[in-house]
Amino acid sequence: MEDPGGGPGNEQTNGGGSGLSRALARARAVDEGPEGLNCFLSLSQALDPGGEEGGGPLAGVPVAVKDNICTLELPTTCGSRFLEGYESPFQATVVRKVREAGGFVVGKTNMDEFGMGSSTENSAYGPTRNPRDPSRVPGGSSGGSAAAVAAGVVPCALGSDTGGSVRQPAAFCGVVGVKPTYGRVSRYGLVAFASSLDQIGTFGATVEDAARLLEVAAGHDPRDATSARRSVPSFVDALDDGVKGKVIGIPREYLTEALDPGVATSFAQARERLREAGAILRDVSLPHTRYAVPTYYILAPAEASSNLARFDGIRYGVRALGSGSTREVYEASRSQGFGAEVVRRIILGTFALSAGYHDEYYERAQKVRSLICRDFRRIWAEGVDLLFTPTSPTPAFPLGERVRDPLAMYLSDIFTVTANLAGIPAVSVPIDPVQGLPCGGQFLAPPWEETRMLAGAAALERSYASDGGLSHG
Ligand code: GLN
Repeated sequence: MEDPGGGPGNEQTNGGGSGLSRALARARAVDEGPEGLNCFLSLSQALDPGGEEGGGPLAGVPVAVKDNICTLELPTTCGSRFLEGYESPFQATVVRKVREAGGFVVGKTNMDEFGMGSSTENSAYGPTRNPRDPSRVPGGSSGGSAAAVAAGVVPCALGSDTGGSVRQPAAFCGVVGVKPTYGRVSRYGLVAFASSLDQIGTFGATVEDAARLLEVAAGHDPRDATSARRSVPSFVDALDDGVKGKVIGIPREYLTEALDPGVATSFAQARERLREAGAILRDVSLPHTRYAVPTYYILAPAEASSNLARFDGIRYGVRALGSGSTREVYEASRSQGFGAEVVRRIILGTFALSAGYHDEYYERAQKVRSLICRDFRRIWAEGVDLLFTPTSPTPAFPLGERVRDPLAMYLSDIFTVTANLAGIPAVSVPIDPVQGLPCGGQFLAPPWEETRMLAGAAALERSYASDGGLSHG
């Protein structure tokens, strides 16, 4: 590990503050200049450690936070011009928990505007670059958080995953990304994109780093009516459980022609490692998988069009100056404040919900969503413990390649959106790189079975580690 650049002059002596100052120095170094990674939209100024004195599972740990999660000390822009400089009057439950556990918020990370995108190129503040190859995207929408972990700024970070926005960038950057069960982590203070799909998730340099942050973040919160009254097991303690005797299903619908041949090879090798670790592999079918992307791209924009109505230049957001009536203020503010992808989603969503088309699109998509859920329930009932798939059909693509082709961009989510539609947990873990580019394998588990899922991810991680690790792959 190279020195993160916190020379003696940068060291602070206030308790655990040195971890923070080192992370800040590293963040500035990786983001600097026109060729910088652009992971962060704002950095913590305070050298106040922030966390509680003494122990805590995150004592002294610097954490990066996606910019759609509200913080008191730093702006929350959601990667949008509309919220430039916006300061939230409250903080998200997850941020409070990180601080109570002794962690520090290093800064807020870059993202596709309001979480809409798969490359972080839809940020109003310029794209983030992939630390493993700066000519490529880091994935999205939580690209800044994934890149901050991959660049060694922080060991763990918070993101949000509506259709894959934690797992896909984790795969592209070669780190671990977890989307927990819907309701496992409070969404209080997460700016809503599509409320029935959104979950806050965690990134880690290792499975253990991601699991530890998840353990802190998880739990019931009276401020979020969708957060579940479930006790939180120790995710970290479960990492030794392994996969011996576990039935791991390989859904054949995820091994399509769309799969890059290099990713297919890397995935096949990962599958063999699981077998060597004692798992029982089974070929399974989830027949409604092929409708997942169209279903998602009806439901997510429909919910977004409703959630984004609050950004009108009056209640929230930058107001367009010089406009006349209230309606003109709305129109001018929204036209100036939102980027092209957000406008496209609002139009799609409003159309899908409109009187004449509601049954044909929104309702039908809800029905297909039920069928996708049923596919998973059937698989679990047949005795499958976990599913294993590639995380994304390709490795990270070059910056600019898909900006003008929204459909190609949407297809990068083909393997991740099903978990959000079904509300189940999923994790992406690094597998063999493809031509030097990171690649991810995804475990999916039944609801609330994060422990089993993370044990699977840890078993795979250990298998690579025992052969000298992936960086030598
Ligand atoms: N890439 C997907 C989208 O654009 C998922 C985004 C997300 O998970 N926030 O909607």
